[in-house]
Amino acid sequence: MVLIPGTAVVTGASRGIGRAIALELARLGAPVAVNYAGRREAAKEVVESIIAAGGRAIPIQANVAEPAEAERLVSEAEHELGPLGILVNNAGISRDGLVLRMKTEDWEQVIAANLSGVFHCTKAALKGMLKQRQGRIVNIASIVGLTGNAGQANYAAAKAGIIGLTKSVAKEVAARNITVNAVAPGFIATEMTEKLPAQVRESYQSRIPLERLGVPADIARAVAFLASEEAAYITGQVLCVDGGLSMEA
Ligand code: NAP
Repeated sequence: MVLIPGTAVVTGASRGIGRAIALELARLGAPVAVNYAGRREAAKEVVESIIAAGGRAIPIQANVAEPAEAERLVSEAEHELGPLGILVNNAGISRDGLVLRMKTEDWEQVIAANLSGVFHCTKAALKGMLKQRQGRIVNIASIVGLTGNAGQANYAAAKAGIIGLTKSVAKEVAARNITVNAVAPGFIATEMTEKLPAQVRESYQSRIPLERLGVPADIARAVAFLASEEAAYITGQVLCVDGGLSMEA
């Protein structure tokens, strides 16, 4: 698999799925900006692993929910590592609860980080990509953006929003040779899912046709494919990487 040329920015790459995406894109030769919100040491560890394996990477702290920080993230990445080829919008948070008990603050924070963050980073990244007439944007949605999930109205709305945003931007920039796709993970073993009660995890696992939880590398390989030359004719799509779980929902 051959990635398109240019620097890759991966948001929320200090751990979990974003970390695996950063390692995979670096393994395939991209210089990688490892974005994080607060966990500096974790982001540094990802950068050090990439450098130890012979790649190029730098950590960049930025809260993607803030437009000015998203802009700084992209401009710093371009300045330090070269023109942007690939943007992976992966940063996300969850604040679960039933709608009737959900605090407005939990609604707003999840929409800001998960959905508005994708808008801010996309807008910042497109400037350079439009000039170069080349680029790949991969947004990390979730199968709950397609199926809904009790207790996750804020998160599912943000992820459904990402899917609408992905398809709209794909139409806007297709003529400039920029593709925009979404990957929708199912249940992946990370810190985000660790905090769920054991019985919820077991119930998910029993419903997954491939009979195992996903691992971050499962998502990273799909993202790398969408960022590769081989995926040049794919845009506006949602690729579910979920062991078949969404077929059961
Ligand atoms: P995670 O382990 O909780 O990691 C979240 C990452 O996002 C961290 O690197 C965190 O940085 C960063 N982040 C959070 N808010 C941010 C902000 N405002 N600005 C910049 N970075 C921010 O999550 P994960 O499970 O790997 O999930 C990654 C993505 O996949 C998310 O979009 C999530 O919704 C999606 N997803 C996950 C699953 C799953 O089963 N795990 C399923 C479907 C979709 P710090 O380390 O600095 O806090």
